[in-house]
Amino acid sequence: MADRSLRAFVCGHPIAHSRSPIIHNYWLRKFDIAGSYTAVDVAPAAFPAFADKVRAGSYVGGNVTIPHKEEAFLIVDERDAAAEEIGAVNTLWVEDDLLKGSNTDAHGFAANLDDRAPGWDAVDRPVVVLGAGGAARAVLFALKNRGFRDVRVMNRTASRAESLAAHFGPTVSAHGLDAAGELLVDAGLMVNTTAAGMHGEPELGVDLGRLPDDALVTDIVYVPLETPLLAAARRRGLRTVDGLGMLLHQAVPGFEQWFGIRPTVTAELRQLIVADLKVKAS
Ligand code: NAP
Repeated sequence: MADRSLRAFVCGHPIAHSRSPIIHNYWLRKFDIAGSYTAVDVAPAAFPAFADKVRAGSYVGGNVTIPHKEEAFLIVDERDAAAEEIGAVNTLWVEDDLLKGSNTDAHGFAANLDDRAPGWDAVDRPVVVLGAGGAARAVLFALKNRGFRDVRVMNRTASRAESLAAHFGPTVSAHGLDAAGELLVDAGLMVNTTAAGMHGEPELGVDLGRLPDDALVTDIVYVPLETPLLAAARRRGLRTVDGLGMLLHQAVPGFEQWFGIRPTVTAELRQLIVADLKVKAS
């Protein structure tokens, strides 16, 4: 039986698709911790009451996913710098009777590239970011932390890209999707943060022909594992990194916070999720 004080969760609505229980239960088993990590379906209207239960000690903490990340940002008693800058909370924990919140997506994004493309941040070349939603904010925060000074955000809805540029300051510029030709020509890194190319969604169709031959292309979408963008980049001979590692690495700080051990992302863990993706492609 799991120790009541070592219960953690992922909450969202819907939640059945979440792979977070596979990740955290793998680590709980690996470290022989008598804790639990479960998926809880929490409808939007019920989220404040659920957060009160967490604050009162029903759980050591947990993850928050769609559609609760912005509400969690508003509801916590304290946020760390990442959550503050990204404007959303995906990780909760209780400390000194306070509900605290962080956002670990930026860590996950950077750690995935550290792992799969070491040295990706060694040279300050322009970066093209496709998309201007919540995940793009986390990616921009990570790029800012790694010192990139020319980050070009392209988005279908220009106003969203403009508001990100205004938030992150002069190192970030805003563009429409039609500006790809001129923006790609000297870029060292391209990141897709849009939902386009995700299972069941249309492709973005950005022409990668003008990217330099040594550019790195990464997609944070991981269903499918090889998105149409990554497939096009591979055909063009470019280096690619898929988005699954971001999911795995974003889970590390939460697990350490709740259970006291910093876990590592192993090939075995990745394989567990890859197998699950083959069974349930959504
Ligand atoms: P979001 O806030 O809803 O933003 C969606 C973004 O995608 C917006 O920029 C939107 O453009 C764009 N978009 C959607 N469909 C499009 C299309 N057909 N053509 C062009 N642009 C399109 O979502 P999010 O939270 O940022 O998440 C985005 C994706 O990242 C999701 O697929 C999510 O699963 C994935 N993600 C992965 C990880 C990971 O750990 N690997 C973490 C977080 C998110 P408009 O502004 O014009 O609508």
